[in-house]
Amino acid sequence: MNTLPADTHTHTRLCRHAGGDPLDYARAAAARGIPEIACTDHVYFPDDPQPSIRMKQEEFAEYLALVRAAQDANLCTVLLGIEADYQRDLVGEHLPAVLDSAEFDLVLGSLHTGPFWDLAPDDPTATPEFVEQMNRTYYLRMAELARTGLYDVCAHFDIVKRGGIHAPEKLLAEIVPPALDAVAAAGMAIEINTSGYDHGAAEAYPSLQILAWMKERGIPLCFGSDSHDPSQIGRHFEKALALAKAAGHTHRAQFRRRKPTLVPLA
Ligand SMILES: [Zn+2]
Ligand SMILES: [Zn+2]
Repeated sequence: MNTLPADTHTHTRLCRHAGGDPLDYARAAAARGIPEIACTDHVYFPDDPQPSIRMKQEEFAEYLALVRAAQDANLCTVLLGIEADYQRDLVGEHLPAVLDSAEFDLVLGSLHTGPFWDLAPDDPTATPEFVEQMNRTYYLRMAELARTGLYDVCAHFDIVKRGGIHAPEKLLAEIVPPALDAVAAAGMAIEINTSGYDHGAAEAYPSLQILAWMKERGIPLCFGSDSHDPSQIGRHFEKALALAKAAGHTHRAQFRRRKPTLVPLA
């Protein structure tokens, strides 16, 4: 019997900073005892300023075909997803058009731009004032993301700690709950993204405290490895399952055609 949850966050070679095709991920998942994966490559941008980190528009059809090939191989369940960056200039026309152009099973919403990405605790610019402002801005943006109504799941919800700077608990208690309220109002889920264990943050995204605040609001969770190589499928999932349960979660969201249903955690 499978005890590991679906892995709803993976990337392919098309994003130019990951390796492997959906079929490779499906094979790796089957070997690891993961019954279901979602392919969630980065959405293409119009007039892309950074074509080196995501697929081009003309590659989108190839992406759909690669996912279909993995589905047809019947190694595990393979969902069609996408990781759609929240940027103010994309949410008006571009993202709605892309999200309408295919039958997605789930859409991840995420924030990738900001000084937090590689800001380490020993960086001289990481003053308490700067860290506070960086966190305030980040969670305001996360609430904006939720209010667009475009997304099903918040990806790596507290990745603002990526470089290893953990904001004071008192500050987080002030600024995170409003963002969670926006996520709950949007009917979205939040993933436990296990890539954080391998970053400077050295823990899952989100933290145990945030998982508990999610539980209070009835925000469901799912599990994503954010794999950039098939060998990373389901990384740290045993730990993440224990973390979810420690925060009081008993179910996870399962997605089909952008509709979540709750299934018990094994
Ligand atoms: Zn991401
Ligand atoms: Zn990702």
